[in-house]
Amino acid sequence: MKYTAPRGTQDILPADSWKWQRVERVFRETAERFGYKEIRFPVFEETELFARGIGDSTDIVRKEMYTFPDRKGRSLTLRPEGTASVVRSFIEHSMGRGARVTKLRYFCPMFRYERPQAGRYRQFWQWGLEAIGSLSPAIDAEIILFSVRYFEGLGLERTEARINSAGCPSCTPAYNDLLRKELAPRLERFCDDCRERYERNPRRMFDCKNESCQALLSDAPSILDALCDECRDHFAGVEAHLKAVSVPYVIDSGLARGLDYYTKTIFEIHYTKLGAQSALCGGGRYDGLTEELGGKPTPACGVSAGVERLISALEEEGAFPNAAPGPDIYLVAGSDGAAELNVALAARLRETFSVEMDYQGRSFNKQMQEAGRMNARFVLVNQGEGGPLKLREAATGWEVSPGEGEIEKAIRDRLASP
Ligand code: AMP
Repeated sequence: MKYTAPRGTQDILPADSWKWQRVERVFRETAERFGYKEIRFPVFEETELFARGIGDSTDIVRKEMYTFPDRKGRSLTLRPEGTASVVRSFIEHSMGRGARVTKLRYFCPMFRYERPQAGRYRQFWQWGLEAIGSLSPAIDAEIILFSVRYFEGLGLERTEARINSAGCPSCTPAYNDLLRKELAPRLERFCDDCRERYERNPRRMFDCKNESCQALLSDAPSILDALCDECRDHFAGVEAHLKAVSVPYVIDSGLARGLDYYTKTIFEIHYTKLGAQSALCGGGRYDGLTEELGGKPTPACGVSAGVERLISALEEEGAFPNAAPGPDIYLVAGSDGAAELNVALAARLRETFSVEMDYQGRSFNKQMQEAGRMNARFVLVNQGEGGPLKLREAATGWEVSPGEGEIEKAIRDRLASP
């Protein structure tokens, strides 16, 4: 019997996990600068939360959830996204007390029962932000700016924000009617999914991946011409705030998001060098969701994105260094006696530096090769029995012979020198 990781899941091995650490560290540092605190919520929730929160007509709820009864017959679901859980937690813990704006972030795995294919997994990671408690367009623009800065921090410059409005319950019914009326004569030419979307929520047809459906929508009426005064003013406010912080953006009235809860602003950030699959993240406002989930009416805005997708974009763009960062020091034993001495020397040096060494009695040459393979910054050769130590910087060939008590200082001085 050979065990393998379940279909649609993957192990992230040390050859790659350093990239994940970098993507998560830059996320954490950027989110801290923007004031978004971490929330950790359960891996599973009551199924009803997602059915209500994400929307019955979405692909996620209709066919992609990992739903199972627990031993008492309660229906539970592995989280397919973060927003419903965050809003549930916001309500449960009365986080909005005192009318403050609650700004939260998460970076964690999600689960969807999808057909695995390139870039599509059944367990995948998302990063996300949620700002709950303000209707101000400053929040929408802040979240868009965060996303742009995050990608810049990872080395993806010159992203482009695409923005649209999803309207609100007072302007979308009339727009849905208009859209249905305009599309009715050509409905037969849309795909099966789109014909179903036409009935349930015709705006979702814009989200179809089929080029022929997209072509049929090219002259469809724009929601931006159908917004109520409040949504139009809000949209203008988002534009003004984006201009104020110099975020390049384009208005894309064909932009739709796959989740039902969006109101007013929706957006995606694209890295156009990636071609057709260029969206790095997407989000928007969900002013009705808190009330829908049993809380007081509370406006909110958020963003989320897949981490696997981001990492492949960074790889394609050569935004990672060529090799995983290696240890500060590889400690080489030049003799059997030195190998014994190295045990204590490594323990001492590890109080300050990351140190690797040989554990298998390999030859001097093999140890030197291993130091190179590991990408160690310095190689420290210990001859043992009072022989001189040799400290060498791998990249430059810089070399000294420090006394035993001088190693730390020699390395620190070298690291501090320009
Ligand atoms: P959504 O929550 O459906 O808007 O998805 C947001 C992002 O999560 C997508 O743009 C993808 O990058 C990522 N994502 C969604 N589903 C998967 C999946 N099955 N595997 C990998 N990434 C995914």
